[in-house]
Amino acid sequence: MKKNSIKILFLTILIICFGLYINFSTSIEITKDGNIKTNFVFENSEEEKFSAQNMQEIKEVIKNTITKMYVLMPELAAEINFNIRLIDRDLTIVYGVTGRADNKDEIEISLSSIYQGGISQAIKDGLASTVFHELHHTVRGWTINKNKFPQGIDTAAINEGLADVFAEMQTNQAMNKMSTDVDFPAWIKEIKALPKNANYGEWMGTHPDGREAVGYRTGAYLVKTAMKNSGKDIVTLSYYSIADIYSLAGY
Ligand SMILES: [Zn+2]
Repeated sequence: MKKNSIKILFLTILIICFGLYINFSTSIEITKDGNIKTNFVFENSEEEKFSAQNMQEIKEVIKNTITKMYVLMPELAAEINFNIRLIDRDLTIVYGVTGRADNKDEIEISLSSIYQGGISQAIKDGLASTVFHELHHTVRGWTINKNKFPQGIDTAAINEGLADVFAEMQTNQAMNKMSTDVDFPAWIKEIKALPKNANYGEWMGTHPDGREAVGYRTGAYLVKTAMKNSGKDIVTLSYYSIADIYSLAGY
């Protein structure tokens, strides 16, 4: 190939890449919240798009959440990257929003495009609690990469329970719409008897017997019981070991 052709080919690839990039990354912005810098990447779903107002509302809620979080648990990363995805899945049970802490400085948030009342309503109902929950994971070290904890549903239940109870207390709203009227002592017994490599999806997601989020719900129960028994608040307990929380809960 001639030099000029290579140049044109290279430029074409560059233009195509840039075109694709701005399709899924509608906005990147850095804001200052105390000592924390935040970067946002927005990704639209196949069916729906974030409006400019949605993106503004999301940034606003996340900024406020980080500001509150920083006072309670200041060991946040100095800069946090938020990947905000719109998904065409029903997330009614978790108020329209779910998330994942990939790294101490990287959080993925998924919002439902089909939430009743629309994307704006999902932002109002579920975003702050999900962000509190995921930020809690980043401080405790319960992240997808560089996770500081051993394998086991018993461990996952406590870490998720701590994050759920913490978020619940900051927002005065339950993390999910699932029943708490279940036999938790029996569920604890089950979880404690599981092998360390028990199926994560079944115990934290949908169990073959139909139960949902057994680990999350049992974890929240254990954390609340530990708080009641010890008189310690959720922030203090968030720095305790898994074994200590079981022991404070009486297990
Ligand atoms: Zn979690």
